[in-house]
Amino acid sequence: MNSFLQTDIEQWDDLLAEVRSQATAYLQNIESVPTSPQLQDFVSAELPAAGWGTAQALAFFRQHYQPWMVASAGPRYWGYVVGGTTPAAMAGDWLTSVFDANPQSLQGTGDRSAQLEVETIRSMRQLLGLPDTFTGGFVSGATMSIFTGLAVARQWAGVQMGQDIARKGLSVQPIVLAATPHSAVRKAMAMLGMGSNRLIKLRTLPDREAVDLEDLEEKLRQYQGQPIIVSTSAGTVNTVDFDDFLGVQRLRQQYPFWWHVDAAFGGFAACSPQYADRLRGWENADSITVDCHKWMNVPYDSAVIFTQRKHQHLQVQTFQNSNAPYLGDPDEDFSYLNFLPDNSRRLRALPAWFSLMAYGKAGFADRVEQSVRCAQRLGEALETSTDFRLVAPVRLNVVCFTLRQMPERAAEFLALLNQRGKVFITPTLLEGTFCLRAAFVNFRTTESHVDEALEELSCVLQVLNA
Ligand SMILES: *Cc1c(COP(=O)(O)O)cnc(C)c1O
Repeated sequence: MNSFLQTDIEQWDDLLAEVRSQATAYLQNIESVPTSPQLQDFVSAELPAAGWGTAQALAFFRQHYQPWMVASAGPRYWGYVVGGTTPAAMAGDWLTSVFDANPQSLQGTGDRSAQLEVETIRSMRQLLGLPDTFTGGFVSGATMSIFTGLAVARQWAGVQMGQDIARKGLSVQPIVLAATPHSAVRKAMAMLGMGSNRLIKLRTLPDREAVDLEDLEEKLRQYQGQPIIVSTSAGTVNTVDFDDFLGVQRLRQQYPFWWHVDAAFGGFAACSPQYADRLRGWENADSITVDCHKWMNVPYDSAVIFTQRKHQHLQVQTFQNSNAPYLGDPDEDFSYLNFLPDNSRRLRALPAWFSLMAYGKAGFADRVEQSVRCAQRLGEALETSTDFRLVAPVRLNVVCFTLRQMPERAAEFLALLNQRGKVFITPTLLEGTFCLRAAFVNFRTTESHVDEALEELSCVLQVLNA
């Protein structure tokens, strides 16, 4: 055995203790870690001929690469939709590596960790108030979850026309309709041979990002006879708008279509009695995407695809791994190997399971409500100030705003703000207007961080005006 590996194994306990103290030192200090890189030069190391051993690799990492890490898991990182990692999630993540399980089959011999994944999916359904008509599994992110949902939808579309797309290839092109899709929907269409340009945009309601159901009905009528996939939103990224799922469900009783819900982060509104009504009706969808590495605050990479149990045969047709024709009842012979795009994968469910058990329903309700309170506080302060204005109403946990007096300098303002490293915010375009967009999904963020950020915004404005 390689001598460095031999030494590492002997010193395993000490190495983990060192990692632990390095990690806790970082986490205890995370509030003062900059939210943007403060370094200029990246240090490269050649692949060592003889190896370094873990202790030296750790020392090198701490010296050269840890300073490269920004506080994206901290309380004032509000760009994109970046979550965080709670203690429970980290415990689960660490143990995922310790056991290095590869969850596949429920009935097979050997690794039975898939049972834990099925159990975690059950708890996720309970958290989100979804019925047990859904089965599900873990994938690496919402993009892959959408990919999986649309792949099964594509198989369904083929079957409507008497075609088996998984086996014979893409002989049927489904019509895909969506009002305000995340870019990941088009990416999934591209990967699936469905053509990202073929997405047909539906009209939205006035001053909203939610679908205009009249337009949806018109399109459903127009394309009647062709297989149709409707992708709806539970939380658009800019204004966290929700489509009217009860309305979509009413249309589905009249017209056949595959119904997907992209609830990457907005699905967690279901955790709070105050906001759960926005999701009413979503339980009738065929497939649902939920990200765990956003509002659930488990580390990357983790998301769930839920699909209705009645479509399990379509899902197995789509992701069947063996070349043998599909045999048997998927319920009796269930294996994630034939259910999701990955073959081998880590036990992604574990960080989520720890979080669910550690914090329970109340913990997630609290998380959601705290994030929304922060967004509301920021929104109210900006709207009443003379320097800023909201570009859209604060519907849930995202705030879109710009400079009231000199909107033409908003990009310059944002660059300066981000460079200073106290708050991180990303830009977006809203109806053609450049704006700053702050998203609240991190468990650490409280109202006092919002107040600190408001001071920082004023400072940056002074610097800009100076
Ligand atoms: C983040 C997000 C996605 C893409 O998710 P990834 O986890 O980055 O793959 C898709 N849809 C919505 C609404 C999102 O917020």
